[in-house]
Amino acid sequence: MILADFHVHSNFSPDSKTNIYDQIISAVDNNLKYICLTDHVEFPDFGFQNYVQDYFKELNDLKAEFKSKINILIGAEVSLDFRYHEQISDFLQKHKFDFVIASQHSIRFVPEQDVFYNYFEDMLKNIAVFTDYSVVGHLDYVIRYAPNQDKNFDPDDYFDLLTQIFKIIIKQNKGIEINTSGFRRDFMRQHPHEKILQLYKKLGGKIITIGSDAHNPEHIAYEFNKVCDLLKKIGFDSYAVFQNRIPKFIKI
Ligand SMILES: [Zn+2]
Ligand SMILES: [Zn+2]
Repeated sequence: MILADFHVHSNFSPDSKTNIYDQIISAVDNNLKYICLTDHVEFPDFGFQNYVQDYFKELNDLKAEFKSKINILIGAEVSLDFRYHEQISDFLQKHKFDFVIASQHSIRFVPEQDVFYNYFEDMLKNIAVFTDYSVVGHLDYVIRYAPNQDKNFDPDDYFDLLTQIFKIIIKQNKGIEINTSGFRRDFMRQHPHEKILQLYKKLGGKIITIGSDAHNPEHIAYEFNKVCDLLKKIGFDSYAVFQNRIPKFIKI
């Protein structure tokens, strides 16, 4: 059983209306032992960076209130963007987050055959210079927005780029996440594709967090049982939780 949801949004993100409190109640109801809020930080003006004090205050109050029931961690999901690396790093160094997801959200809508390639290329360029994160988020997220979603996506075609991405991630002692939001979409699977997880394992990757990307309470811990089976199938025997940016491994 997976006991930690490390990708959760609340109304501190512009795309969620849910109170942090309701996400935590749902996590307790789902018998989780850890929940990490990871609201959006996206420069210049999407995200909670202007309300960061309120975010920490509310989470610290809830941490105290729920102490005997669940571990609450304070995280952020930052959007990778070449233009804002410095501002993002300044922001992250000023505030004591437990965990940071770095996500490539921007997609270049060039001809379809180039969309996937350019997406991974942008990710590679970003993480080659931006290192202030814990895990890279939802690695093949691009399939959500490609003209035909995943129909023309074969991870094998991008193993070169993915290998370079993973070598950087592993060398810097960072990790990746398995994000279950894809189960709520047409392609009905986690991000990233199983083949990409196998490649990460083959290259020596160890750090994996699990996240639902829930924007409302019914999606907390969504399809975590499937992730548990998948991890075992690929040969992983643990997943990670983070506190003060330090990973701790939990056996599955
Ligand atoms: Zn995201
Ligand atoms: Zn998210």
